[in-house]
Amino acid sequence: MIEFVPTDEGTGHAPVVVCEVCHHRIKSATDGSVAWDFDAKPMVALFAHKRCFHALIRGHPGWGSEDLDAFFIYLLQNTGLALRPWKKKEPRQRRQRR
Ligand SMILES: [Zn+2]
Repeated sequence: MIEFVPTDEGTGHAPVVVCEVCHHRIKSATDGSVAWDFDAKPMVALFAHKRCFHALIRGHPGWGSEDLDAFFIYLLQNTGLALRPWKKKEPRQRRQRR
C-alpha cells in the first residue's frame, strides 16, 4: 500500500510504498513487485518486497504481477507525466571582450 509517513527531517510527510506482507517500507523500486487479482473489481495494486512476493501470491496462481520499477513507469505514463532524461546544462558562453 502507499502511505504517508513523517519525513526523516520531521518537517512533514512523504508518500512511501509499504510491503503488504512484512509491513516494512520498500525503499528501492528494484527491490519490489506489484501483484493484482484479474477477477477483483476493482483490481487493486498490492505491493511486496521481492523476498516477500511469494508469500503474497501464494494460493493465487492467476494473479498478474510486475516489477515495481516497471509499474511506476507505467503509472507515470498513465497519469500524463513524461519521463525525460536529465538535461545536462550547457556551460554559459562567456562574452569575449574586445
Ligand atoms: Zn516485505
